[in-house]
Amino acid sequence: MTGRADLPSQEAMNPPVHATGDAARADRIEGVLLGAACGDALGVPYEFGSAPLAPDEPPRMIGGGLGPYEPGEWSDDTQMAVVIAGVAAAQGLRHVTALDAVVRGWVDWLDGGATDVGNQTRQVLREVGVGRGSPHAAERARLVSYSLHAQTGHTAGNGSLMRTAPVALAFLDDPAALAERSRAISGLTHADPLTGDACVLWCHAIRRAVLDGEMPELAELVAELPMERRDQWAAWIADAERRTPSTFAPNGYVVTALQAAWSAIRHPVGEGSPVVTSLVAAVHAGDDTDTVAAIAGALLGAAHGASSLPEEWLEAVHGWPGLRADDLRDLAARVADRGAEDAAAHRVPDELHEVAEHLVALGLGEGHHFLVEGRPVPGGRSSELIGLRKDDDGTYEVWYVGDRGAHRTLLETSEWSAARPRFVEEVARLGESRGDWRPPRRRWWRR
Ligand SMILES: [Mg+2]
Repeated sequence: MTGRADLPSQEAMNPPVHATGDAARADRIEGVLLGAACGDALGVPYEFGSAPLAPDEPPRMIGGGLGPYEPGEWSDDTQMAVVIAGVAAAQGLRHVTALDAVVRGWVDWLDGGATDVGNQTRQVLREVGVGRGSPHAAERARLVSYSLHAQTGHTAGNGSLMRTAPVALAFLDDPAALAERSRAISGLTHADPLTGDACVLWCHAIRRAVLDGEMPELAELVAELPMERRDQWAAWIADAERRTPSTFAPNGYVVTALQAAWSAIRHPVGEGSPVVTSLVAAVHAGDDTDTVAAIAGALLGAAHGASSLPEEWLEAVHGWPGLRADDLRDLAARVADRGAEDAAAHRVPDELHEVAEHLVALGLGEGHHFLVEGRPVPGGRSSELIGLRKDDDGTYEVWYVGDRGAHRTLLETSEWSAARPRFVEEVARLGESRGDWRPPRRRWWRR
């Protein structure tokens, strides 16, 4: 490789920020939270067999369940999602302080609003709550969740997937950040990589559904996952498309929960709109009915819009912290608006795209040897690499991350003419020292 690869067009590098003024799109944005809430409230009465449901009987929002819940009341799935959405609307989800705010919001919810709580989530938040007031709530949560995973090896519950939908709304205009943040927010309580995969997959599906106005092909989105698990996920998705939802019960495991939800979307039951018939199928999957229906509902609402939900459901749904359907509409719109503003402010500068393309053309691996902050790295990143970022104040930082997570700043400068050669040189040096890259010719490439 001696030439420089053709640079992608400006459009491809910086997709336009989508206006949320488009009415159909606004309807789909609202559909994400409302679809999830309706699925949740529809499944609540039947959770773990709380109420009988005959095979040909349509589920109804009659309340009861594990709560007991009022008719139309949503449960922990929507409650936890509302906490994420509240933070996303107020400050976006990009900064580490946003994740702290999410964890603090959950700890408060556990004390004051939680009607029921998943085991894994309860264990993590209880321990984090002991040190409440700490500014580093997210880091504490992450450490607790990872140590639980190390102790038990069983942390792949459906509890992070059930609440992930607002993350998709916060990053409609930034798929790279969507993948990273949905995994990070999952990891606040669930450390198993499969839970992060499921959240990445589902958030990308919701994003595509909102943008395109149709149900995406889930199997195509495995390209967003780390290479080593793509085939496995493709097989699980194919399985969900072949089999009916009830064959994925028990569905407390994140994989079977996702399969049950996707199977319900592909195997609707009875008469009515796709949203209604698929949510009916999701509840008939049995077991963790509210969670499977909440997961399915977010994606169904994203594809078909809030206007596709029956009026009687929209009138009935409500829940902690004292919200109704119109509040969720408003919240969803604010999350998407805030996300669009943030994406506009965090567009990857052209010069960073240029140097990344230059390194790729030299045979250096993006995500393997180097990372340019803000650019998507679908295959995940290796543990040792050279990073480059540009701050809001125009400062470039070149850094090194070692395989034990050690982060060392190599250069901070406002001069691109200094940052670019240093970055290229450090990336090439890493490739040479690891023995997995050789310069095409001496010297010239450093320029
Ligand atoms: Mg629930």
